[in-house]
Amino acid sequence: MAVSAASAQNRWHPRRGFLLAAGAAAAAPVLAQVDVGSASSMRNLVPAEQMEASAKQQYSQVLAEAKSKNALAPSDHPQLKRLHGIARRLIPFTAQWNPRVAEWRWEVNLLNSKQLNAWCMPGGKIAFYTGILEQLQLTDDEVAMIMGHEMAHALREHARERLAKSKVTSIGLSVASTLLGLGQIGDVAANLGTQLLTLKYSRDDETEADLVGLEIAARGGFWPEASVNLWKKMLASNGNGSPSFLSTHPSGSNRIQELQANLPKVQHLYEQAKQAG
Ligand SMILES: [Zn+2]
Repeated sequence: MAVSAASAQNRWHPRRGFLLAAGAAAAAPVLAQVDVGSASSMRNLVPAEQMEASAKQQYSQVLAEAKSKNALAPSDHPQLKRLHGIARRLIPFTAQWNPRVAEWRWEVNLLNSKQLNAWCMPGGKIAFYTGILEQLQLTDDEVAMIMGHEMAHALREHARERLAKSKVTSIGLSVASTLLGLGQIGDVAANLGTQLLTLKYSRDDETEADLVGLEIAARGGFWPEASVNLWKKMLASNGNGSPSFLSTHPSGSNRIQELQANLPKVQHLYEQAKQAG
């Protein structure tokens, strides 16, 4: 699938931090190369619209708080511009993973914090922390692997799945029925929002995010082997600085082996993207 630079440009909103969703034109059916099966049906217990609305609210709060502490990178920050450039190359390849993307408004922001952290909330709300870029001295290819991974969590709706499971197991089905729209939506939405930043995904979710992210990045023209290098860097950094990303993303040799095994599946996507320029 070729998306011309011009059409990608058109989806770019000059307004700070905002990226328009990849349009239907970019969502031509493409056969996925990595095999992750279908998304968990558990996620249906939490309405996607509600999840995305909560995330949007929570994201605004995070940004407002960062801004009040002078920790929100301005739109002309070179590292933020770099992140936007990378996101612009990945976004056209997200719609094939989730039709809801047509309604998403991707957003990428940079927070000035020493934490090694990056995340993407439901609905495509992304944040990178300066700590992860600087301490790991990430190349563009490596940043693309992290961004693709985080986008994949949102695309595969892992947060919905996680919340649905935690609601059902810890509080019971009555809460699930509340989530399905039978009352006090406002409170529930607020609660969901505060949980988004502390979610820990399962190992399976992590593998899925690694592989889907790898494929999206390869289609965007980013070097697949950077995924392996990235996790080697993560491993080596263990113990340095604040390990927030590592605490939710154990960087074991399994992870690296799984990525390595999938490199041949996406190599041609990378080469095609490079040829298309
Ligand atoms: Zn993850």
